[in-house]
Amino acid sequence: MTRRFPGGQLLVATHNRGKLEEIADLLSEFDVEVLSAADKGLPEPVEDGTTFVENARIKAHAAAKAMGMIALSDDSGIEIDALDGAPGVYTADWAETPNGRDFVMAMTKTHKRLEAINAPFPRTARFCCTLVMAWPDGHDEVFLGVMPGQVVWPMRGEQGHGYDPIFQPDGYNITFGEMDRWEKNRISHRADAFRKLVAGCFA
Ligand code: IMP
Repeated sequence: MTRRFPGGQLLVATHNRGKLEEIADLLSEFDVEVLSAADKGLPEPVEDGTTFVENARIKAHAAAKAMGMIALSDDSGIEIDALDGAPGVYTADWAETPNGRDFVMAMTKTHKRLEAINAPFPRTARFCCTLVMAWPDGHDEVFLGVMPGQVVWPMRGEQGHGYDPIFQPDGYNITFGEMDRWEKNRISHRADAFRKLVAGCFA
């Protein structure tokens, strides 16, 4: 049995306003008032885990403990089989530059690494999303969402964010970057994890 959210305030352990709004929207039909860790002035903890679950746990527990509230965190990224799961938890790091994140650079790096090892086709990969609900007493519930697919080149599509232009989900011949946002949000790794979260803690 998963522990259920009792209603009331939920602290979302993110400094990303887009994520906060998306989460508030997904939970809008339940008795939840969503607050952000950034609005509460909480610092971002160091994400030094080696898995999505570890990093999501670090963020959720830090926020839950600091505020004495139930906290929700999310950690996501892309795992590419031919690169032994890289970039994985380092998905955002591959885009880091002194002037902010550059995802065209990150996608080019990804393609070059695949070419350097002559990776066979299809270049299978998956987007992963981990959600962690943490309680101030140290309890947590973990929900995993996955979207399998393949890495393609060249980049295709202007929609979405991050690595969307080089990820073609299974069952489609367009990339996430070419996909209508509504459609992507219905089938994505994040949607998968949220369905499990809602079924486990809210519904
Ligand atoms: P974090 O979960 O905020 O640490 O970010 C993980 C990284 O994975 C970000 O750099 C995103 O660009 C990337 N990522 C996660 N989900 C998606 C997605 O749906 N499309 C494209 N990139 C994604």
